Amino acid sequence: MSTVLIVDDSLTVRKMLIHFLRSGEHSIIEASNGIEALEKITMHPIDLMMVDMNMPHMDGLELIKTIRQQPVYEDLPIIMLTTESSPESHNLGFEAGANVYLTKPVQPHLLLYKIHSLIGDHNLEVKQD
Ligand SMILES: [Mg+2]
Repeated sequence: MSTVLIVDDSLTVRKMLIHFLRSGEHSIIEASNGIEALEKITMHPIDLMMVDMNMPHMDGLELIKTIRQQPVYEDLPIIMLTTESSPESHNLGFEAGANVYLTKPVQPHLLLYKIHSLIGDHNLEVKQD
């Protein structure tokens, strides 16, 4: 069982992402900004993180940079999921240390495919309903 941390200041987006993932097959942790995410990862080991770019207190880019500075999170799979679609934003995401960059709204199949390719979790399936 894998643990996924969803970091987004929008409750609606977090609920939607949770809906995309079969909650019974793995555990999901939520955070509404970078500061909260940093607190959560000290309490729970995680296998993958999905990060929004624009958030109050600490945005996604700063969060990813902070995490990548810590050797224990050097190889943590990170997906940046944001409404920012410009090539410049893509570059900023990858420079910060994201492994995958996706723009909202994201197709569930694409998101799950990316998660599979990053953590090889075959228990994740697309919800049929
Ligand atoms: Mg946001």
